[in-house]
Amino acid sequence: MPAPTESHPLQSSESPEPHENLELSDAPGSPIIADFHDAIGANSNDTSGAETSAAIEPLEYDEDGDENQSLLHPQPRLAQGRHLFQNTILTNSKHSTQRSSSPTYTEDSLDSATEADLLLPSPSSASSIREYFKKRWGTFVTRFVAYILFGIVFILAWKLVFLPRTTLRRDLARLRHFQISLPDLERTLFQVPETAKVREWSHYYTSGAHLAGTNYSQVQWTADKFKEYGFQAEIVPYDTYLNYPRDHSLKLLGVNGIVRYEAPLKEDVLTQDPTTSDPNSIPTFHGYSANGNVTATYVYVNYGRQEDYDLLEERGVDIAGKIVIARYGGLFRGLIVKGAQERGAVGALMYTDPGDDGHVTLVNKYKAYPDGPARNPSSVQRGSVQFLSTAPGDPTTPGWASKAGVDRADPHERIPSIPSLPISYRDVLPLLIELNGMGLNPNDLGESWRGGMREYDYSIGPSTMDVNLYNDQEYKITPIWNAIGRIDGVIKDEVVILGNHRDAWIVGGAGDPNSGSAVLIELARAFGELKAQGWKPLRSIVLASWDGEEYGLLGSTEWAEDLAKYLDANALVYVNVDGAVTGSHFHADASPLLNTVVKDVIKRVSDPKGGYVYDHWLQETKGRIGNLGSGSDYTVFQDHLGIPSIDFGFSGGDNAVYQYHSNYDSFHWMDKYGDPTWEYHVTMVKIWGLVALQLSEIEVISFDVGEYAHSLMSYFSNVKAKISRIVGESELDVDISGGFYDCPEVRGSLIRECKYIDVTAIDDVDLPDLKLGWWYISSSLRNCSDALDKLLDAASSFDAKSSSIKKQYFTDYPWFKGYKKLRLYFQIQELNSQYKQFERMFLYESGLDDREWYRHVIFAPGIWTGYAGATFPGLNEALDARNITNTKRWLDIITERISQAADLLSEK
Ligand SMILES: [Zn+2]
Repeated sequence: MPAPTESHPLQSSESPEPHENLELSDAPGSPIIADFHDAIGANSNDTSGAETSAAIEPLEYDEDGDENQSLLHPQPRLAQGRHLFQNTILTNSKHSTQRSSSPTYTEDSLDSATEADLLLPSPSSASSIREYFKKRWGTFVTRFVAYILFGIVFILAWKLVFLPRTTLRRDLARLRHFQISLPDLERTLFQVPETAKVREWSHYYTSGAHLAGTNYSQVQWTADKFKEYGFQAEIVPYDTYLNYPRDHSLKLLGVNGIVRYEAPLKEDVLTQDPTTSDPNSIPTFHGYSANGNVTATYVYVNYGRQEDYDLLEERGVDIAGKIVIARYGGLFRGLIVKGAQERGAVGALMYTDPGDDGHVTLVNKYKAYPDGPARNPSSVQRGSVQFLSTAPGDPTTPGWASKAGVDRADPHERIPSIPSLPISYRDVLPLLIELNGMGLNPNDLGESWRGGMREYDYSIGPSTMDVNLYNDQEYKITPIWNAIGRIDGVIKDEVVILGNHRDAWIVGGAGDPNSGSAVLIELARAFGELKAQGWKPLRSIVLASWDGEEYGLLGSTEWAEDLAKYLDANALVYVNVDGAVTGSHFHADASPLLNTVVKDVIKRVSDPKGGYVYDHWLQETKGRIGNLGSGSDYTVFQDHLGIPSIDFGFSGGDNAVYQYHSNYDSFHWMDKYGDPTWEYHVTMVKIWGLVALQLSEIEVISFDVGEYAHSLMSYFSNVKAKISRIVGESELDVDISGGFYDCPEVRGSLIRECKYIDVTAIDDVDLPDLKLGWWYISSSLRNCSDALDKLLDAASSFDAKSSSIKKQYFTDYPWFKGYKKLRLYFQIQELNSQYKQFERMFLYESGLDDREWYRHVIFAPGIWTGYAGATFPGLNEALDARNITNTKRWLDIITERISQAADLLSEK
C-alpha cells in the first residue's frame, strides 16, 4: 500500500465539510452537527479555501448512511472503528503538519500502530477524538432506531392500506372467539336429534310415577343430563302446599240411603299397556280439591261455564245445595268448581264426554284404546282445581317464593272449598241416565248442551236420588324440585330461558309433559354437541325442568317469584314446551313480539307429513298465533314479569284421541298412536332449538314491535266493537262537539258539571240503561286511540331503525371507518335494551282488579276461562261488569302504558 501524501484524495474527500453538508441536508441545525463541529472545532477554524474546495468533491453514501470513499478512488476498507479513527487522525495530522509537532500517522504506520496508540492520540486532541467517537456512535444508534421505527410505520401503513373491509358482525365474532357461524350451528341442530334418543328419554320419564314432590331421582337424572351435555346444573327446591290422594268414593243412593251404584273411580288395567298396571299408579283425584263428604241431589251443568250457570239461573234452576256434574272442555277445571261454589253447590263431578272427542269415537265405529284410537271409556282426566286465573303458584304464597319458613297466606281465595272428583264417562253414566227426562234438556237450553253419549238424553235434572261424594286428601307443605341448567353466553344480561315441566298426574305422561321433557333432553344433547365444537352462545341460555306444574305452575312460579329482580333485569324471553307432541297439528301462542320468530323458524323445519311445518300450520290455523292465557309455565313470565313468552307444540289432528291426564297418556300409547315414528318429537327439538338460536345468536334481538303495535290495534278494535254492541252502534262515532255531547268533561272540565249524568250513579249502571252515557268514556277512548297511533308510528320508525342497523351490521367497512362500527355497536346495545324493556312497559304495578298477581294490562288468562288468553283484561272485565267508571279507569291505565311504550321506542 502506497504511503499517503498530503494530496491523497482521501484527505479531501473525507474532510469534515461533506459530512457537514450531508448532515445539514438531513437535519439542519441538529445538535449532532454542532457536536461534530465541536469535535473538530479548533482545527476547522483554520481550514483553508483549498481544503474547502476539496471538500465539495463527491462522496458516496451507502444506504445505511455510512460514508464510503469515492468510487473513483477506491481505498482499502478498514475496520469501521479504525476507519473512523483514521479519518480523524488523518485530518488531524494534516493540520498538525502545518502547525504542531504532534506525531503524524501514515496509513502504513496506522496499520502497524498499536491499539494503545490509537486510543491514546496526542494529548491535545485525544479528548476531542473520544468525544467525537461518542457522538458518532450516538448518531449511528439514533439513525438505526429511526429507520427501524420508520420501517414499522411503513409496514403498518402497508398493512392498513390492504386491510380487508369487514363487517361489525365478523369483527365481533373474531373478538368473541366465535368459531362457528349461525348457519353451521343450525346445520348441527338439524343433524344431531335422533328419534331413537327421544324415544329413550321418553321411556325413562314415563317409567315411574312422578307426581309433584315425588321421584327425586328424575330431577337428579335431569340435572345430571344437563351436566353431561355441558351445562352448569343445579337442583332448586321450594317448599309448597300440596295434596296427595288418600281416599275417595262416589255412591248413588236409593231410598233409605241404599247404595244403588258405586263408581269404581279407577281406570282399566290393559294387558297391552304396562303403565296401566304399574303398582305405583296414581288414583284419580283433583289437585287442591277440598276434603268433604257430601250427600245431595245433582244437576248436569254442561261445561260449567259462567254462561251455563247463568242460563240455568235464568231458567230457574237453582244449583245451591246440589252436586254439579260438568263435562270438561272450554275452561280450566278449577273455574268450574269456583262457579259452582259461588252459586252454592256443595260438590262437583267432572267427566270427559266422548262427544268432545271429535270424529274418532266409538259411535263412529272406531275402536277404543288399546285396540284402536278412540278414548278408552274408563279414562279419567285428573288435574288441578286451583283458581288459576286468580293466581297460579303455591296458593299459600301468592307473589312471593315458597321458601322454608316464609309467611303463608290462607289459600282459600285461590283453591276450592267444596269437594270435587274427576270421573270417566263410563263411571258417571249410571248417574246421568237417572236424569233422563228430568227437568230441562237441550231442546230448552240449546243443542250445545248435548254431548255424545247415546244412553243419556242430556236432561239436566235435578235428580230425585242423592249421590254421596267423599274426598279425602292429605294436605302438607313439601319440597318440589326444579332442575336448572345454564350455559353462560358472552352477553349475560339478555338471558334466553327454555322450560318444560317434568311432573305428571300419572305414571306415564308421555304426552303431557314428558314429550316436552324428552325434547328438552335431546335439545340439551344437541347444545352439548355444539358446545363440544367450540360454541359459546352470544346470550346465556337457561334450561328449566319444572316440578309441580300440574298443581298450578308451582315450580316455575316460585322460581320466577324468587328471582323476580334478576329476571326483570336480565331475562329476554321465555320459551315453553309443555306437551310437545300429543297430536300432529302445530300450534303456537306467543307475545306478538315473537310471532315473526316463530313463523320464520317453522318455515325452515320439515313436517313429518311432508312440506314444511309452516305450510300445514297456515292451512290448519289460517296463520293464527294465539294469545297466551294460562295453563302452563309461561304464565309467571308473561303475565307477572312482562317477559315475552312463547308456548308451542303439536296437538290435535285426526289420528288418535289424546287421553289427557289419564293412565292412557302412556309410553305405549305414544309409541303406537301418538308419534309412532317419533319424528314429531325430533321436529320439536329442531323448532325449539332454532327459536333459541334465533334469539340467542343474532346481535340485534329478533323482536317485532311493529307486530305488537298492530296486535294492540286489533285488540282495541275488538274493545270498540264490544262497546258498540253494548251501547248501540249509532252512539259510537259521533261528533262530540255539539248537542248532548257538548258536555264539560269533553272540554276538559269536571264530569259532574255535565247535566246529563249524575256521577254518583255511574258505578255499576248498565251502559245500555245509561243511554248515551258512553260519552263519559269517549275522551278516554280517544286518548287511547291516539296513544295507539303514537305507538304504531314509533314502532314503525323503530323497526325501520332496527332493520337499518341490522343491514349496517352486515355491511363491510374499511378500517378507517372504524368509528362507524363503534357507533353501530353502541346503537345495537341501545336498541337491544329498548327491545328488552318493551314488554315490561305494559305491567301495571297494582295488578288487575281482584287478582293483583296478574300485572300485564294487555294479556291475562280470561278470568272465567283460565286457559284462553284475554286481551285488555282489566278493561274487558270492567265492560263485562257494565262498570263505566272502571271502564274509564282501565282505559286511562292502558293509555298510559301504551304511551310509555311509545316513548321508550322514541328514545334516541
Ligand atoms: Zn302439562
